[in-house]
Amino acid sequence: MRIDLATLFPAMCESVLNESILGRARKAELVELHTHDIREYTLNKHRRVDDAPYGGGMGMLMQADPIYRCYEAICEQVGTRPHVIYMSPQGQTLTQAKAVSLSKLDNILLLCGHYEGVDERIIEEIVDEEISIGDYVLTGGELSALVVVDSVVRLLDGVLPSSECFENESHYNGLLEYPQYTRPEVWHDKPVPEVLMSGHHANIEKWRREMSVLRTAAKRPDLLEKADLTEQERSLVESMTKK
Ligand code: SAM
Repeated sequence: MRIDLATLFPAMCESVLNESILGRARKAELVELHTHDIREYTLNKHRRVDDAPYGGGMGMLMQADPIYRCYEAICEQVGTRPHVIYMSPQGQTLTQAKAVSLSKLDNILLLCGHYEGVDERIIEEIVDEEISIGDYVLTGGELSALVVVDSVVRLLDGVLPSSECFENESHYNGLLEYPQYTRPEVWHDKPVPEVLMSGHHANIEKWRREMSVLRTAAKRPDLLEKADLTEQERSLVESMTKK
């Protein structure tokens, strides 16, 4: 898979893309990550990429043309037209299911806005979808694009030790993950739940599933509507909410 980021702040993106699991995945060529400075694609000598919005109002807007020229250069490098995502507070909110579906694509281009955003015509011309990372406004699209990259790359083959690493995690199957513990066995007078020390795998699995259901009911009851629960699990949740 190849992911391209079009941004005014490539160094900001590179600093994250070269660290930790993303950095290792990149080095091991499990994913191709490329950043592109939109400013390189201006035609004016001051390398200006923004201008005032028609009709007046606060702030500046990114102009369509440098973004378009950057997009054309990326298409040429990639050899095909990537799936283009504009990072925007007006987009659909990123979910684990969306990350899974993006991880199946070969080429993605993430467009990071800045200032007041981008000229609407570039969205009409090149953007396939808009993605938001939540109902709040950031100063630029870089942090949100990096969130998308991180959530997608960790799902690619070979990036994590096994697919179990993310399949058991929160949101993958519509539930939150069960509580986890590591050494020491007792910390601040709090022992690790006995079942986890039993070595009995079936009981551990049963306990983990039950905890997943109960903690989803406690922390994110909204998720339970769509979750695939057994009759027994539904009544467990009901008895808990009646208390
Ligand atoms: N004026 C725009 C609006 O009200 O919809 C907001 C522009 S914001 C200050 C600048 C850039 O940050 C956007 O173009 C977008 O790329 C990025 N951004 C801000 N909030 C975001 C969010 N919640 N999710 C994804 N990207 C976001």
